[in-house]
Amino acid sequence: AAKKAGKNRIHFYSPAEDLLLVQRNQNIERLRSALSDQEFVLHYQPKVDLLSGEIIGLEALLRWEHPQLGLLTPSLFLADINGSPLEVPVGEWVIETVLKQMSAWQTAGLHVKVSLNIGAAHLFQPDFYDQLNRLLSSYPKINPAHLELEILETTAINDFAMASEAMARCHQLGVRFALDDFGTGYSSLAYLRRLPIDMLKIDQSFIRDILTNASDLGIVEGVILMAAVLKHPVLAEGVETLKHGALLVQIGCHLCQGDGIAQPMPAEQIPAWITQWHAEEIWHTLGKMMLD
Ligand code: C2E
Ligand code: MG
Ligand code: MG
Ligand code: MG
Repeated sequence: AAKKAGKNRIHFYSPAEDLLLVQRNQNIERLRSALSDQEFVLHYQPKVDLLSGEIIGLEALLRWEHPQLGLLTPSLFLADINGSPLEVPVGEWVIETVLKQMSAWQTAGLHVKVSLNIGAAHLFQPDFYDQLNRLLSSYPKINPAHLELEILETTAINDFAMASEAMARCHQLGVRFALDDFGTGYSSLAYLRRLPIDMLKIDQSFIRDILTNASDLGIVEGVILMAAVLKHPVLAEGVETLKHGALLVQIGCHLCQGDGIAQPMPAEQIPAWITQWHAEEIWHTLGKMMLD
């Protein structure tokens, strides 16, 4: 039994709550060994400019290569990491792995920007800046401006003062920030205007049905206009087909990411994908699609 916050209230945990707590702790322990046994990997999903054909960057996405269950996506384990003592070590592993990979690509003649997702507790660690600074210093060949940190809109807005301060500080290192899952956090324009961000990523839930749902399309058009007013580049997430891409270009959003362009893939597949993307000149086909 334990005392919970509240006036003169004592809250006794039920057997069900005890069980859930035990399970969460077991999950955290399993994830801890996943980290030390190097079962985590990053997959990379391209982000492209559909007008110019340029590959504007790659997003690093966490995967767990589970020895029995196969490749697991974050929806199956990230909730156990977030808010646990593992959030910071896993986040640090992600930054370090991305820098190592960028450095390997660079050596191979591939200069590509990479973004990664940062959890709230990690960003708000008092020594986050020092950690990032130290990691960047150990990869002096990498231009910090080629590293972008994606922060959830809800993270940035719920703790606005802390988030903008952490972001402003890290900006001094040269890194970039993107506001992720934009549109899911009900932020006001007043807040958005004051956030030091370099990119808005429109959440995939708004993009999914733009081909068939006029009000979703209207919302996306509104977000694109707003981003223009705030002078933030805007990218559409979850671009599932090239038709989505063509429509997005038409309404003024030419930065796109999604399975319709490329699915997240292991680092080894990136060079071949880039070669093929340049060869296909898909963006010219898109230009034709828009005239149909
Ligand atoms: P996110 O940052 O918004 O990443 C985009 C998610 O959309 C990815 O899911 C990606 O695989 C998926 N996606 C991409 N294109 C499409 C599409 O066309 N259709 C659909 N339906 N989905 C698409 P994923 O990899 O499962 O990651 C889910 C979320 O987990 C991410 O959302 C991000 O918030 C979080 N996450 C991923 N990796 C990390 C990480 O290293 N650290 C932290 N803290 N969070 C991470
Ligand atoms: Mg993201
Ligand atoms: Mg997102
Ligand atoms: Mg998301």
